[in-house]
Amino acid sequence: MAERPKSDRDIGRLVRPELEAMPGYEAIEPPDQLARRLGIPPERIIKLDGNENPYGPSPAALAALAAYRDYHIYPDPLQHEAREALSRFLKIPAEQIIFGTGSDEIMDLVLRAFLRPGGGVIDCPPTFGMYPFLTRVAGARLIDVPRRADFSLDLPAIRAVANEARVIFVASPNNPTGNIISEADLDALLATGLVVVLDEAYVEFAGSGSFVERVADGANLIVLRTFSKWAGLAGLRVGYGVFPPSVAEVILKIKQPYNLNVAAQAAVLASLADAGLLRERVRLLVAEREELSRALAGVSYLEPLPSRANFILCRIEGIDAGKLQEELRRRGIMVRRPDSPVLGNCLRISVGLPEHRRVLIEALNEIGGSLGASR
Ligand code: PMP
Repeated sequence: MAERPKSDRDIGRLVRPELEAMPGYEAIEPPDQLARRLGIPPERIIKLDGNENPYGPSPAALAALAAYRDYHIYPDPLQHEAREALSRFLKIPAEQIIFGTGSDEIMDLVLRAFLRPGGGVIDCPPTFGMYPFLTRVAGARLIDVPRRADFSLDLPAIRAVANEARVIFVASPNNPTGNIISEADLDALLATGLVVVLDEAYVEFAGSGSFVERVADGANLIVLRTFSKWAGLAGLRVGYGVFPPSVAEVILKIKQPYNLNVAAQAAVLASLADAGLLRERVRLLVAEREELSRALAGVSYLEPLPSRANFILCRIEGIDAGKLQEELRRRGIMVRRPDSPVLGNCLRISVGLPEHRRVLIEALNEIGGSLGASR
């Protein structure tokens, strides 16, 4: 880092020191920047690094955004219309639902609601990097309880530290490992008395039910969901939490008033009205996940792990994952390298369209040939 001038007015010295030392969130490279770097048109980029929906938003959502006229008016702080529409869709009382600027924002609000500085948050890596990131920003204490070799939760280890913590984050399906939590494990987590934040960002691809109906008054469960994946609205930033009513009241009070912007609201309403089409796309993506898994298993140096989400984690043998990622990037194919040391030599590949799979597999075979990978 560049040497900074030290003067009485250098407010840099007043920044919380733990933030200076903190690693930032490693966000993905925007595809237009890669396209510029490679000198190819942006539409040639195959973007399989962000678990986004390759079909995009529903045409109804696009039409609603174009038709909306009141962009000059502030949004409804209480999100009435969106909460009521989602309530009808999920069959959950509207008072329990609160929208956020992505479910990322809801995670942040949960930490603000439940933690004092120094309070403990249990994280179970390998998992979504936003949990440790937001915990550190909140000035809370991160307590790592790594998953077992099969990526299930280590419940005895969680129980052993539960009294040092207040909140635990668990994603199901988990990113990047793709596995889901069993109901027995969820029951065991709830029995610890911790605030259990169950992140169901990918649940629409899981083929098994959500635990959202277990959120109730007096229960220590919060469920997070999003419109980023199944509804293809990642760029609009719209997610939600389902809370016990008493907690929802607090979250509503502490959130920024205009956090669900009018564009996001218009797109949510249209997407819910067009849910049949979006569900059909989810079915296509689940079928494509299985095709992609079979195709990846046919590449000599790859071992795809089973997944219940819209991405596949692959172990790589004989080629360095960073090198493979770079070789793919040079060909305009973006995949993600999980930053978890326990995963070793792995890449995470989002499920795209069938034509993306064909280009990807050809590139993987070519790279394997040129780098001389063998099993
Ligand atoms: N949870 C998990 C497990 C994720 O992987 C992601 C996105 N990568 C999110 C939440 C973020 O969702 P949103 O776009 O709603 O903030």
